Amino acid sequence: MELVAHIWNVYIVNILDILILAYIFYRILLVIKGTRTIQIVIGLIVLVAITIIARDVLHLETLSWLMSRFWLAAVVILAVVFQTEIRYALAKIGSKLFFAETKIKSNFLNEICEAAVEMSRIKMGALIVIEKDMGLKNYTETGIKIDAVITHELLLSIFNTKAPIHDGAVIIKDERIDSAGCVLPISTEIEVKHLGTRHRAGIGLSALTDAIIVVVSEQTGTISVCLDGKIEQLAGDKLLEKLTKCYTQKAIL
Ligand code: ATP
Ligand code: MG
Repeated sequence: MELVAHIWNVYIVNILDILILAYIFYRILLVIKGTRTIQIVIGLIVLVAITIIARDVLHLETLSWLMSRFWLAAVVILAVVFQTEIRYALAKIGSKLFFAETKIKSNFLNEICEAAVEMSRIKMGALIVIEKDMGLKNYTETGIKIDAVITHELLLSIFNTKAPIHDGAVIIKDERIDSAGCVLPISTEIEVKHLGTRHRAGIGLSALTDAIIVVVSEQTGTISVCLDGKIEQLAGDKLLEKLTKCYTQKAIL
């Protein structure tokens, strides 16, 4: 018995400790990978180096004092700088802990796919956001409230360039069209600079929330899906499968 307790205390607890820490670092690295956050992290490392050199090597009193004050305020500064990331991470943890797999009640995804395929054929531009667990009120408020059952005919009417609300995004909430003409946050990542604003808006929102965004290009007729800050081009016949999978499935933490 004692031996088991000893092994537990010495090995298992330490291994668990290391594993949990490694996992947290891994998740943080995943969040900052490929974003401008990496520059901020490099900046912080430089500041740590300056602090240590000023205090312990060169013994510069004023600079050391200033840096020690800075580090006191750093927690607040970091919370402000990483506001969106922290909010997203917390919301993501919350949504994964408390929500079960999403059940689909209507054939709304079929309607979206049918509209996307038709719009792709006639080269009509579209931007369709499907809300998941994270609320998109900030964005629906920038558009015109619709609150209608989803049909491909209605989607085609909204994105018809003669329609007054064709500009901007349609946001789908609870299997209904919540709003149209919504303004989304444009991604400022350098890797997507070559894309137009419609595609960048889709990528931008997907990086900040768990929404699924379907983009149909007016120029090329291609259909793309944005998820987690990434964009993927898809053939029309693969769209339904992809949307169903993304809408119902929960990634495991
Ligand atoms: P396409 O391939 O369809 O041309 P694109 O990615 O090249 O798309 P633009 O040609 O710049 O993008 O598309 C402009 C349209 O994208 C606008 O008319 C508007 O409907 C939509 N759009 C642009 N920015 C935003 C935004 N921030 N939020 C929502 N919709 C936007
Ligand atoms: Mg364009």
